[in-house]
Amino acid sequence: MRNKTLISFFLLGLISLFELSACLPKDIFTHCENNYPKLDSVKEKILLIIAHQDDDAFIVTRIKDHLDKGDQVMVDWVAKSYQGGEDYGNMRIKEAKRAMNMLGIDSLHYNFLNFPDSKTYKFIPQIIRKLKVIIQNYQPNVIYVEAYEMGNIDHDVSHFSTVQSVKELNYKCLIYEFPQYSAYDIPNFLPFELRKYPDSITTFCRKLTIHERNFVMAYWKIYKSQDFPFLYYMFLLGQEDLIFKYEYLRPLPNYDYTKKPFGASEAYKRYIQGLKFVDFQRGVKSYLNLK
Ligand SMILES: [Zn+2]
Repeated sequence: MRNKTLISFFLLGLISLFELSACLPKDIFTHCENNYPKLDSVKEKILLIIAHQDDDAFIVTRIKDHLDKGDQVMVDWVAKSYQGGEDYGNMRIKEAKRAMNMLGIDSLHYNFLNFPDSKTYKFIPQIIRKLKVIIQNYQPNVIYVEAYEMGNIDHDVSHFSTVQSVKELNYKCLIYEFPQYSAYDIPNFLPFELRKYPDSITTFCRKLTIHERNFVMAYWKIYKSQDFPFLYYMFLLGQEDLIFKYEYLRPLPNYDYTKKPFGASEAYKRYIQGLKFVDFQRGVKSYLNLK
């Protein structure tokens, strides 16, 4: 009886997933203007700060451009997965090292800060302390961070901690944020076109060439432990093409981190049951009050 109930729940879930997929537009990004900002002609130092091993895949063609130009690139991952056990976390780190190898970034130019996945909001002061040292020592010209979009609490924490570190150091550099989930219309994530961004905020879009698409696909495949949950989910929704078609970034908007990002809908719970935006807010507020 119990098995039968489980099977019917599974089938119901599958049916609703396909129904959902039928409602979704196949390609809502045909408007892509291919207007990515040009790279500076002088050699620069680039810093990429992200939460998880695989978040780098969302901005990898831009990072590759910098490397091809001869820029120096440093990558810092804020979180480590402990939930699937120590081996799982280590496997993700191994995959990230392979990804860096594919890009030709040597081990002197990437770091794993290893704050516990999904609990990073409890370590904001410690993360900021580390990031300030990294920024001060490295002196980047451009920093790339994940967009503040309420998709994943660790993404928002590494975004906030980066922006706050730069502010506290009174450091001058260009900061770009790149969307992950909201760019791809995954259910429960409001695509950024539908959000209430002020007119002053531009999201740049890049149409990937066949060559670049093949590169992004090969890069994603290095993150084997992640391609099942993410790529197959996109596949079920008929959206598998999107992440291989476009890449996005925008100059950092002037966010108030005690408030939700423009018109975003909360999606933390999709990954970690029980986590809410108030947890992020509590972390941010207690950090700002302590200061
Ligand atoms: Zn992530």
